[in-house]
Amino acid sequence: VGIDLGTTNSLVGTVIEGGVRLFADKTGAELMPSVVGIDGSGALIVGRAARNRRVIDPDGTAVSVKRLMGKDVNVRVGDQQLTPAQVSALILGALLDRAQEQLGTRPSRAIITVPAWFDDTQREATRTAGELAGLQVERLVNEPTAAAVHYQTGSEAVVLVYDFGGGTFDVSILDRDEGFLEVRASRGDTQLGGDDIDRALCDLVLSRLGDARRRVEADKHALTRLVEAVERAKIALSERDEVRLFDPFLAGEGGDAVHLDLPLTRQDVEDCARPFVEKTLVCIDEALRDAHLDASKLDRVLLVGGSSKMPVVERMVADHLQRPVVVDPEADRAVALGASLLAGRAAGADVQEVLIDITPHTLAIGAAGSEGTPVSIDDLDAVPIIPRDTVVPVERTETFFTMLENQPVVEAPVVQGEEDFVGDNTWLGMIRVEDLPPSPVHSPVEVVFKYLLQTLHALR
Ligand code: AMP
Repeated sequence: VGIDLGTTNSLVGTVIEGGVRLFADKTGAELMPSVVGIDGSGALIVGRAARNRRVIDPDGTAVSVKRLMGKDVNVRVGDQQLTPAQVSALILGALLDRAQEQLGTRPSRAIITVPAWFDDTQREATRTAGELAGLQVERLVNEPTAAAVHYQTGSEAVVLVYDFGGGTFDVSILDRDEGFLEVRASRGDTQLGGDDIDRALCDLVLSRLGDARRRVEADKHALTRLVEAVERAKIALSERDEVRLFDPFLAGEGGDAVHLDLPLTRQDVEDCARPFVEKTLVCIDEALRDAHLDASKLDRVLLVGGSSKMPVVERMVADHLQRPVVVDPEADRAVALGASLLAGRAAGADVQEVLIDITPHTLAIGAAGSEGTPVSIDDLDAVPIIPRDTVVPVERTETFFTMLENQPVVEAPVVQGEEDFVGDNTWLGMIRVEDLPPSPVHSPVEVVFKYLLQTLHALR
């Protein structure tokens, strides 16, 4: 199966009889909220039931856990403390239940999508989640790549995929050439999405509540209900100009209760969304620069992800790039459809296209500069071996030099990231070579990095 493990919603599908199919629940819904909680009897619940319970039990319900992937934190579900990977495994398990009901067998292998911007720690956590759910994770595919696979039209060469979801933003530039689909550049922000717009809208609504504001803010249930009402209104305002936010007895009781009853306009949404959309435009420019492209060279600009359905997004991106853009009304299914297609192919369907991926971050080792030995490992220079956006597989060699006569050991930290010093990048590990033969000072030490597809599998 192909799985879009999203911040807000997740989907699962595969290829059946030559066609891509997403699995729906009994009510026909394909999107499953990425929410985990417990029911009244203390049993774990996943998906829509958990999202609905959130109003009653905001503290015991885990939402947007994708934002925490790879972090050393615990998430509360009921009275249990789970890692983000464990929570994600429960979401994957619920998707597999759904697929099993319709296929008759439980899927054992999956392709799971991740934001192109995810670093190895976040990818590793996603892989762990798959394994905890009993899956063999064949491959992690970047979300924009999956979307582009879904929209493939054959004739277009350079496609920009702009994916603005609930919790993450991603932009990638893909190049299609004689059946090869290559990611030329990928940028994004793992902490930017529709959730931010919901929060800004909530602040706006709270500021309009006057004296009642403090009572709503002090009441977690009321706040959760407000966030949900605001998100529903935001979605409705993609189609309409004005809606009424209405939720009686939001906080407090009886004659003293706070009732929510306010108009909210599309203009309000656009005012709240603008600063976040502007951040995405900066990422677009960076991706174009990385790909050495001018916007006029793009054959197609695809807007996917739920937040791309806001008219202000389409308008701002088109204005910025000075060209028309394409928004699919089913933008939130594109990643899952592409992943399902790839999964079908991996399971034996005809493979017409080969996917080429890039290294999302620079891989570097720590070395002492000409200034001598810094006092701590963190202060070592991070010297790039394989730069960001290099097409994999790749092998690169750099030469370093020993610092002492008869130096017995060479030891260097391996990090990933774009910063100048080791301590400011993501730590991957330490390489240590012992028992060096006697040699004069400044003897060469060759460092070879291979980033193979298998490595990619192992790392991702
Ligand atoms: P995704 O992660 O792609 O499923 O996107 C989920 C995000 O898209 C959430 O923040 C939703 O509130 C938002 N969203 C979904 N549909 C719409 C819509 N029609 N207009 C505005 N935002 C939407």
